[in-house]
Amino acid sequence: MAVDPKRDSRGAAILDAVRRAARQEQFLDVVSAAEARRRFEACVDRSPLGAQSVPLSEMLGRVLAADVVAPVDAPPFDRANVDGFAVRAADTAGASDAAPRRLVLNAEVIACGVEPAVEVAPGTATAIATGGVIPRGADAVVMVEQTELIENDPPAIALRRGASSGQFISYAGSDIARGETLLRRGTRIGSREVGMLAACGLAAVEVVRRPRVAVLSTGDELVEPGRPLRAGGVYDSNGAIIAAAVVEAGGEPVAFGAFPDEETTLELAMRSALDACDIVVLSGGTSKGAGDLSHRIVSRLGKPGILVHGVALKPGKPLCLAVIGDKPLIVLPGFPTSAIFTFHAFVAPLIRARAGLPPEAAKTVKAQLPVRIVSELGREEFVLVSLIVGADGLIAFPTGKGSGAVTAFSQTDGFLAIDALVSALDAGTSAEVTLIGKAETAPDLVIMGSHDVALDVVVGALAERGFAARTIAIGSLGGVNAASRGECDLAPVHLVDPSTGVYNKHLAAPGLKLVPGWRRMQGFVFREGDARFAGMTAAEALKAALADPAVLMVNRNAGSGTRVLIDGLLGGARPAGYANHPRSHNAVAAAVSQCRADWGVAIAPVAKMYRLGFLPIAPEHYDFLLVEARRERPAVRAFLAVLRDQTVRARIRALGMEPDDQPSI
Ligand code: AMP
Ligand code: MG
Repeated sequence: MAVDPKRDSRGAAILDAVRRAARQEQFLDVVSAAEARRRFEACVDRSPLGAQSVPLSEMLGRVLAADVVAPVDAPPFDRANVDGFAVRAADTAGASDAAPRRLVLNAEVIACGVEPAVEVAPGTATAIATGGVIPRGADAVVMVEQTELIENDPPAIALRRGASSGQFISYAGSDIARGETLLRRGTRIGSREVGMLAACGLAAVEVVRRPRVAVLSTGDELVEPGRPLRAGGVYDSNGAIIAAAVVEAGGEPVAFGAFPDEETTLELAMRSALDACDIVVLSGGTSKGAGDLSHRIVSRLGKPGILVHGVALKPGKPLCLAVIGDKPLIVLPGFPTSAIFTFHAFVAPLIRARAGLPPEAAKTVKAQLPVRIVSELGREEFVLVSLIVGADGLIAFPTGKGSGAVTAFSQTDGFLAIDALVSALDAGTSAEVTLIGKAETAPDLVIMGSHDVALDVVVGALAERGFAARTIAIGSLGGVNAASRGECDLAPVHLVDPSTGVYNKHLAAPGLKLVPGWRRMQGFVFREGDARFAGMTAAEALKAALADPAVLMVNRNAGSGTRVLIDGLLGGARPAGYANHPRSHNAVAAAVSQCRADWGVAIAPVAKMYRLGFLPIAPEHYDFLLVEARRERPAVRAFLAVLRDQTVRARIRALGMEPDDQPSI
């Protein structure tokens, strides 16, 4: 906005803000992750919180504050395990078909819950139900199926097989012995533990009080999920992720919500969070840049105050660790990946400790790097990876989408650390991968390359047939490389041969076979109702765009098939916006729809999703490179069958794609 500060006081304020933004203060005291942890641990109490008694119905997920000693035996008496007869084993010795033993029945039937009254004397037996109390004198149970009733007065049974002493009896205390330590403190109570406690008659136990963790977000741009997104707005995802991660770590989240970057309101909220909770976690507003204020507020909340602001970590540099009175207060970086990473590194262990849980044992595996990873010198860097089973063991594929990505963690099996003094890890390096969450489960099928919505249909159809596929979106070229290294089963690609204009055929190579996929129509996209292009053909619209210097285009990244198409259409022209080259059809559509550009080239289904005008140009072929060495794997065969399946093809067509004929492969 053009302003004259001399005449306009609002203009002066804007220029001041511009100067502040450009002046980016630096972090004064960036420390190593180890030093940050040392300072934090020295100042915070990590002992388990006090105990509280909870009833059986509320025990699930809680952590035992003390060992539980069994107050009774289970079973509480010697118990019959089958329906049959309580006998003296000695009476049955030598019983056979030729010489059955005859035992007279006592005048008693022992059902569950009945205390026996009659002793089993030599030569007698008593009818007993599963779960019945073994009567005095008996030391074995024979199954009803192995006896014959002799109708006499009194009735008797004939036994054709001997019983050993103890047969079909569970002795008192054989399950749980009175006085035995049943469960140890620090155990997280699951359904099985609930069952054990109930079996001992315990209606309540002492558990560690859950640390109450206040969760706050700050940022003028934040919008609560469920509400419409305004221009420039982003959903507050950190609040929800962190609250859920607090539960996983054994804490009780208290959601305070998202606050604008406004000092007074945020300070009030932080003070009430400190009053109400044991730990306070705020995300956002932590870099010392424009409009970021969290650390400024924290610095006046009380002693001892900020311990660390700036950690030589990637992601996570702007992390701020503080203690106010005896309460830890952590300001996580706003970017979701950074926020989750630093939460798990610094906050989750503290919550676990205060919740009485033992530290989480890190599970690690060795895996090879398929590509070189460069890293910033001076910061310990954590790289999120997906694990793939290769021919010679595990392969760790970096999945990083940048620290702003919310999905990075969900597609990740683990991470590897690159030392602050190392500038790169070479392809082929064997690295130690720390597993995140569940231990690695190898997918049945690995698909690496370009992503497409219709691919989700295929993956869904595979899932219905019991095959788990993992798709890693690394673009067409990345897919070609992964397939040639044999790191995936299939690589979805859409690359045009610039010399012939033919899609994908040039990518087939020894060991790599091209499987036809589907065609997606690419076209000129513009905002519906933009009079400059409405009603034209693609060729006319392009001509109009190139003739008008006010029109701004959005390009595609070099290496993409669409870029080759665009360059062909432009024929050497370089209109404004040519240098802006996002990596996906969605990004092009978003740029046009949000007026950051006026036209671009994208596929029809995406144009439809963003409600853009669409003028068809040429179909793009989305095919698959099949790694031939893997074609006999059941999941690969299922994949090929799914491509031929009529229902699947109809679903693909419904998305606006045209499936190709499938030669039998
Ligand atoms: P900040 O730490 O406030 O400088 O924020 C850095 C980036 O993280 C910005 O792109 C924010 O929009 C984003 N961000 C901050 N807080 C959140 C949040 N609660 N949920 C999602 N993104 C956030
Ligand atoms: Mg912010």
